[in-house]
Amino acid sequence: MSSQNHERKRIYQVWPGKNRFYFGGRLVFGPDASSILLTTCMIGAPAITFCIRMAILIRQRHPLFHLLILIGAIILTILDFTFLFLTSSRDPGIIPRNKEAPLEETSEAVTKSLEWVSDKVGNAKLPKTKDVMVNGITVKVKFCETCQLYRPPRASHCSICNNCVQRFDHHCPWVGQCIALRNYPYFVCFLSCSTLLCMYVFVFSWISMLGVHGQFFIVLADDAILGVLVLYCFVSVWFVGGLSVFHFYLICTNQTTCENFRYHYDKKENPYRKGVLKNFKELFFAKIPPSLNNFRDWAPEEEDDVEVGSVASEVVRAFGTPKHRNEQ
Ligand SMILES: [Zn+2]
Ligand SMILES: [Zn+2]
Repeated sequence: MSSQNHERKRIYQVWPGKNRFYFGGRLVFGPDASSILLTTCMIGAPAITFCIRMAILIRQRHPLFHLLILIGAIILTILDFTFLFLTSSRDPGIIPRNKEAPLEETSEAVTKSLEWVSDKVGNAKLPKTKDVMVNGITVKVKFCETCQLYRPPRASHCSICNNCVQRFDHHCPWVGQCIALRNYPYFVCFLSCSTLLCMYVFVFSWISMLGVHGQFFIVLADDAILGVLVLYCFVSVWFVGGLSVFHFYLICTNQTTCENFRYHYDKKENPYRKGVLKNFKELFFAKIPPSLNNFRDWAPEEEDDVEVGSVASEVVRAFGTPKHRNEQ
């Protein structure tokens, strides 16, 4: 055990997607995780500046009023960063890849597609799409050639992370992670919290400015820091506020961003819609499903040097012994 374990690798070390793993595979980020630093600065810099300004004003003006504002700003900032971290660092709902294409499911699959994908191991061909029933409505699911699986309904392949992801919403460059089944509630909380923080800093910067002299332009020249904060928050709130409103609309109608763009012009019935209250309840009060991956598990022996999609794996597929394909 001891000598072999030195050579054996864990699943996150041989993971074929482009994710970045930290703390021994406990934290899962997207490939563009470094963009979180920019997002952190864009939230943290104005928030800290505001807090310092309020701390100074506690001594200069109404102590209790500015102290309460300071405490509120600190709580909102901490919450915002917590939600950002929870959104970015968790498995968003990655579907583990198959090493080989699944066996044909000709009996149950009602297939209307005339397109086929060839399975590279045998010469069997699999239909490119398959129809499945969701709440009485037929939904087409596609075969992912990279992951060698039929994507479950609502799943999509993220081209940035190179994984199929459950209930894929979009890949967010600001948090450097897919927004999907397992982090969507945190993402919505992050957006809402950012919008609140923006409005909070905007309103109380303005009140603090006007509280001094009463004339806006004189105060603006006098307290340039609060002036810049007002302007910064005014611009930012349109962006984060707009996104929050858009996502609340998506929650009300139980759609993902992906579905909204794809089916926008279709008059198709949405099989996931359950009424506004139930849609909200499903998102915020249902338990987040467990991850389908245990990135810290030991990778199977052959996976150490045979990576899915690599040239080596193609050789194994061609000349190896894919015995489980013939088992049912
Ligand atoms: Zn895929
Ligand atoms: Zn992604």
